[in-house]
Amino acid sequence: MDFEAFFKNELDGLHQEGRYRVFADLERQRGNFPKAIRHTENGPQEVTVWCSNDYLGMGQNEAVMDAMKQAIDECGTGAGGTRNISGTNHYHVLLERELADLHGKEAALLFNSGYMSNWASLGTLGAKIPGLIIFSDAGNHASMIEGIRHSKCERVIWKHNDLKDLEAKLRAADPAAPKLIAFESVYSMDGDIAPIKEICDIADRYGAMTYLDEVHAVGLYGPRGGGIAERDGVMDRITVIEGTLGKAFGVMGGYITGSTALIDFVRSFASGFIFTTSLPPAIAAGALASIKHLKASSQERLCHQERVRTLRNMLNAAGIPHMPNPSHIVPVLVGDAAKCKWISDLLLDNYGIYVQPINYPTVPKKTERLRITPSPFHTDEDLRHLVGALHSLWSRCALARAVA
Ligand SMILES: *Cc1c(COP(=O)(O)O)cnc(C)c1O
Repeated sequence: MDFEAFFKNELDGLHQEGRYRVFADLERQRGNFPKAIRHTENGPQEVTVWCSNDYLGMGQNEAVMDAMKQAIDECGTGAGGTRNISGTNHYHVLLERELADLHGKEAALLFNSGYMSNWASLGTLGAKIPGLIIFSDAGNHASMIEGIRHSKCERVIWKHNDLKDLEAKLRAADPAAPKLIAFESVYSMDGDIAPIKEICDIADRYGAMTYLDEVHAVGLYGPRGGGIAERDGVMDRITVIEGTLGKAFGVMGGYITGSTALIDFVRSFASGFIFTTSLPPAIAAGALASIKHLKASSQERLCHQERVRTLRNMLNAAGIPHMPNPSHIVPVLVGDAAKCKWISDLLLDNYGIYVQPINYPTVPKKTERLRITPSPFHTDEDLRHLVGALHSLWSRCALARAVA
């Protein structure tokens, strides 16, 4: 086989479908978030980032940076091993305690990313619990889908956020089979939020466990940043709460929280936890500082929500259609892959505005969009510049306007 020709041919297919991914080459600048230097063939360009998942700018928070620097001075760089073989640093232990407390659970388990935490936890539960059926929301993230697939257990996909469909599918399943409902709180592309309490009510009726991905909510919602389940007062009703340290907490890593026995079970059987070098101590120290900060301070959350409201009001005034939702994610629908990429390229090259186009397969075809994530650090001037640029591109591109 001509391997090179095969690879090139497959890539040509992506180009033709308009979904070949080009990464912006960014140099983030401490103290200047959300500004960054973009490296191009024509030299460096200052851009404003409008699509970061560092939702609160915690990636440049003084307390977080100090904690990371101090941990490097104390412990050096890497952890030096897997958790079992010399790689459990005291910062990992402190961080797991902090996470368990954040979600009101007995225990927590750290992974090297949110992706790994979903993949390994769902993979292990599905593979090891005899006869388990996982009921997975149709909008679930790739990491959950891959974990469930990898487990080879029976899976049933229910319509996104549709309680009737969930209940119908649970009712149709073998009453004796153990069951788990896997879903998210904030869905990252539409910004809609699951009815967690109602899902828990259904789970109770069918004796099902619940597994909630709060990746786009931790740090952002609830009085201590525990997520939507904390905000809604239902954390204690969820069997497993999963989260990331890489988005609102501004560092990296993932985790699950739950009962002592469940966490010990995943710790003891999950290959994706056991056979990998643990996170550097400085990462754990930074995440610890970030969680502690956001537990005690709501100022970032309030400012974040205010910026989101202000941006939505300005988009309304300019007649730019954005999908309504109750979260911090502002999806501006374009509905065409080529136009979406074209707008994004022009924003970047002509206006220094960076919003990555979101195309298939991340979202369904014909729902291509710009996914805008305002932070507390986007100024009024940044907002005016963004909305002004969108306003003129909407005219040039003959895109439909919302009625103001
Ligand atoms: C980003 C994301 C993850 C993965 O988290 P990482 O820490 O980035 O690996 C998991 N679930 C959802 C819904 C996500 O959007």
